[in-house]
Amino acid sequence: MQTRVVDPHISEDDELLDQNLRPQSFASYIGQTNTKAAIQIAIASAQQRSAALDHILLFGPPGLGKTTLANIIAKEMGVGFKTTSGPAIERAGDLAAILTNLKDGDILFIDEIHRLSRPIEEVLYTAMEDYALDIIVGKGPSARSIKIDLPKFTLIGATTRAGLLSSPLRDRFGSIFRLDFYDVEDIQAIIKRSAKLLGIILNEECIDVLAHASRRTPRTANRILKRVRDFALVKNGGQITIATVKEALDLMTIDMVGLDEIDRRIITIIINQFNGGPVGLRALAAAISEESQTLEDVYEPYLIQEGYLIRTAQGRLVTDKARMHLGLTQDSPRLFQS
Ligand code: ADP
Repeated sequence: MQTRVVDPHISEDDELLDQNLRPQSFASYIGQTNTKAAIQIAIASAQQRSAALDHILLFGPPGLGKTTLANIIAKEMGVGFKTTSGPAIERAGDLAAILTNLKDGDILFIDEIHRLSRPIEEVLYTAMEDYALDIIVGKGPSARSIKIDLPKFTLIGATTRAGLLSSPLRDRFGSIFRLDFYDVEDIQAIIKRSAKLLGIILNEECIDVLAHASRRTPRTANRILKRVRDFALVKNGGQITIATVKEALDLMTIDMVGLDEIDRRIITIIINQFNGGPVGLRALAAAISEESQTLEDVYEPYLIQEGYLIRTAQGRLVTDKARMHLGLTQDSPRLFQS
């Protein structure tokens, strides 16, 4: 089965794509201007002080460039980079092993940091604050605590849900940056860059349509670009025309504003089954047969950002813009061809 373009999980294809397309420097990291500027200052200051960079928390929906940014920070600092994720650290010992293997200045990147268990989070508190580990050795009355010094490392945490982090953990980050959805112009620039790296030729009109279909998300833009390339190869001798782009997007059920089948189903179900809302997250997730977390992390942010959905204390509400988009108040085509 093909991966859906908004699928938050990284596929093997993505990994290959990532290796080829992941920007390696701030210069090739497009957009996120304010975050980039603030991080560059933090790096320059740390370098002038010959100190480790303060711990950084990056948050925002999947595919916006958190991992890429962490990689670039390590490169610019000229330090080692070790990557892991919240669910991968099962025991405090796993974390201790990772931390004791770091060198001064190294960056430890923990993706999905909100999924760390509480006892592991607690180990991280002293590690982040005092660069030390308190380990209990032995059991019962003979148990004693020993302190192990750690290198002066930098933790970069990434999460789609800053709200799920406990406040003691959040407070230990020197800076917290929220990555925003990209401007369409930035996505156009990303598509151009990726097309060049992949040897794909396409005109401005195609780039524009692809950019609008990419949910303002670089990972989605790269995935769509690759699918369109494949489609053109099979159906049009490799030539990418505006017609092939639109046909390929139709096949992926992506419309001209980047909504796919599930997005449209979410909106339709709220309208048809919940009278336009408000509807609670769980009821909605059950109605569309998706996990609440996927709904909240992957679908909602874009629908809310683009004004199709509103989140209120009572639940989710569909907007007139969404009704209009589905042709419920005015005739508007859903897909390019159909
Ligand atoms: P996240 O960690 O937020 O899920 P990633 O850092 O893995 O996202 O980014 C996904 C892909 O999108 C990367 O492989 C990279 O090719 C591309 N990408 C992300 N941010 C940018 C950017 N600012 N400029 C160009 N490409 C980007």
